[in-house]
Amino acid sequence: MVQQLRISAKVLAELAMPDFCPRCFWVKRRVPDRLPYQSFPGIFSSIDSFSKKVVHGWFDKGGGAPVWFQSLGELAGYKPPPHHSKFNIVDHDNDIMLTGNPDGVFVRPDGSHLIVDYKTSRYTPYQERLFPLYEAQLNAYALIGEQCGLEPVTGLALIYTEPATSDDDAAGEGVHRDDGFAMGFVANVVLVELKTSIIGPLLIRVRDILDSDISPFGRRNCRNCRLLKDLLDVAG
Ligand code: SF4
Repeated sequence: MVQQLRISAKVLAELAMPDFCPRCFWVKRRVPDRLPYQSFPGIFSSIDSFSKKVVHGWFDKGGGAPVWFQSLGELAGYKPPPHHSKFNIVDHDNDIMLTGNPDGVFVRPDGSHLIVDYKTSRYTPYQERLFPLYEAQLNAYALIGEQCGLEPVTGLALIYTEPATSDDDAAGEGVHRDDGFAMGFVANVVLVELKTSIIGPLLIRVRDILDSDISPFGRRNCRNCRLLKDLLDVAG
């Protein structure tokens, strides 16, 4: 009997990247614990969480959305982002449970919803390179949201929060504090097209890759695979 797969929107979105490697994906799902060299500084998720609280505070104080949310259109309020234990759907065609953990959910005056993801980062060409990943992640949230209490979803966006680190910023008012120092952030809003139809083919492909008992071929000419082979050759 085929086992139901459980996959997060974030992991599924990896398949949308142009340089996605099915072999790496297959290996990552099969290692019993974690891959080596995978430590990720927790500070970024702390800042994302802080950004979320700051934005919610704007609404809670009765001031509505921050000015830098302007490109998102009029927003009437927000909803606490749902936890993945309640924000999930089962794709019965492929027997996959798709879970999500959206950073922010806002309500438009017509009752429809806007889902956002915060990214603590400068919006650089590298971030643009990651756009297919983020686009698929947000569209997976939209697909889940349509069946998990956020119907209808009418908008998606990425909110980049970029540390303000110039000399002028460092000398600015409010920076120096008795308990340390404060750093400001500049926000960039990037709208993401709502097209949940991109998720179905990713679910089919993920089922196909993970059902295989043997590892799929990796990317051609991948430098990391060559380095790994060299490493194994040296280790004997
Ligand atoms: S080809 Fe590259 S990306 Fe794929 S498994 Fe090898 S190291 Fe990973």
